[in-house]
Amino acid sequence: MGILMGITDQTKLQNYQTDEAAAFQGQATELYLPKNEQEISAIFKEANKTKKLITISGGGTGVTGSRVPVYGGAVLSTEKITRPQQSVPPGFTEVQTQGYTIYLNQIAKKALCPASIPLAVLDTILADYALSYPPDPTEMSATLGGTVATNASGARTFAYGATRNWVECLRMVLPTGDILDLPAAQTTASKHTLVYNTENLEIVVSIPEQKDYDMPKTKNAAGLYLGSDMRPIDLFIGSEGILGVFTDITLKLIERNTDILGILTYFKSQADTLDFVDNIIQNNLSLSLEFFDAASLDFMRKQHPHIPQDAQAALFFELPSEDSLEIVAEAMEKHNAYHESLIPYQKATEIHLFRHSLPEAINEYVRARVGKIASDIAVPHTHFREMQAYYQSISKETGVPFLMFGHIGNDHLHLNYLPENAAQLKKAKTAYEKLLLKAVELGGTVSAEHGVGKKQILPFLYGAKGLAIIKNIKQQFDPQLILNLGNMIK
Ligand SMILES: Cc1cc2nc3c(=O)[nH]c(=O)nc-3n(C[C@H](O)[C@H](O)[C@H](O)COP(=O)(O)OP(=O)(O)OC[C@H]3O[C@@H](n4cnc5c(N)ncnc54)[C@H](O)[C@@H]3O)c2cc1C
Repeated sequence: MGILMGITDQTKLQNYQTDEAAAFQGQATELYLPKNEQEISAIFKEANKTKKLITISGGGTGVTGSRVPVYGGAVLSTEKITRPQQSVPPGFTEVQTQGYTIYLNQIAKKALCPASIPLAVLDTILADYALSYPPDPTEMSATLGGTVATNASGARTFAYGATRNWVECLRMVLPTGDILDLPAAQTTASKHTLVYNTENLEIVVSIPEQKDYDMPKTKNAAGLYLGSDMRPIDLFIGSEGILGVFTDITLKLIERNTDILGILTYFKSQADTLDFVDNIIQNNLSLSLEFFDAASLDFMRKQHPHIPQDAQAALFFELPSEDSLEIVAEAMEKHNAYHESLIPYQKATEIHLFRHSLPEAINEYVRARVGKIASDIAVPHTHFREMQAYYQSISKETGVPFLMFGHIGNDHLHLNYLPENAAQLKKAKTAYEKLLLKAVELGGTVSAEHGVGKKQILPFLYGAKGLAIIKNIKQQFDPQLILNLGNMIK
């Protein structure tokens, strides 16, 4: 009975009632901290009897309210499950650091990890074995489970793709309390159906036709992944916790590259910046390509006084080695870049802190005011300049302060409005909706990496028909609708 009595101490619950963006406030009255998958299973079975709502919490670094228990009920955090729930597979060895255990196969370059492991801890372990987990979603206190649930991505997505590309197997507890293990060998039953078997259940999911559920061809983290090319695990990657709680995640890794060279460079015009970006993309020169507009540089100047006063934009990018330095230097000269710093990999922390400090500072700034309205839009490359012009014209019209930064290599920018009062907040919301409509019209997505969480933006992309498809699949896994309600669908 013990674990079924959640913690009700409000001071402990306090830490789970919102997330990094603090746009949503939770109402949970109970907190579960299970120590293994059997305990999660028991909690879910009991919750089904009374239809108790449960919201899964990872590191709480999300920015869409996806871990926020807005409808009350209980929070379930995986933080006490610090080792995989399955035994060590052949070829893997157990490695322990900072209280976490993972199984590592150095030769096959794979790691089987508990979902609760923070990315920073995972990286510390992998560094000792000269290995890397390529997705780099900026905030290293995020848990692996949270990043898989949001299909997170970051600067190096430009070269390596999002989290989805690096997840090979998943083990999870379904909302019914059943345990679902999806090993690497699983393939789709057909182009039209997916079959999931647990000890007691068989769930058959129909893959909708493209005309009913047309996923954007850009980087995307909005809605369930449903396409004829999918692996069974793809349904769960980016599912924002609506289908189950991950416990074990098997990752593909790469050799650690310590020759990476980071470059931070400034431009006096946006046009030059965009031309330089095209040059880098066409010549496939960089591992990452991160953009900061003039307002972002202004915002950071206090913390980073070295930013040149006349800079209208900046780019941070990483070369895999010194080999392409000459050709990049030529491109920089051609597009009037003035380069500020060349940073060898060993010192890259400094530049990552520079990149990281911006979203952190914005979140802090808006938390102290009326709230943030921020986009996470990506569009096809052929429409990026059109979208860029639209961002500017729509946002200038509002009179609300704004800044833009992000993953320009993936045609994916975060436009952040910084409203000072309720009237500006309203104007920013209206402008944001116009941006969403435009992005969808251009074949883009409403969320490229954060997920949609409790933001009601999925209808812009998939309409009522698409949402009904998602709800139907959700009900197959969660007939009583107890888990992570409010994410994607109500
Ligand atoms: C400064 C800053 C920079 C950021 N930069 C980026 C970036 O570059 N790219 C990017 O993609 N994101 C970025 N983010 C957002 C955030 O880090 C990601 O969304 C991250 O994936 C959230 O992980 P988390 O562990 O904190 O999850 P939480 O915020 O706790 O939860 C996120 C979602 O995952 C679900 N979840 C958590 N654990 C599990 C589990 N075990 N099983 C099933 N579902 C689970 C939750 O229910 C929720 O729906 C940034 C955040 C900050 C604060």
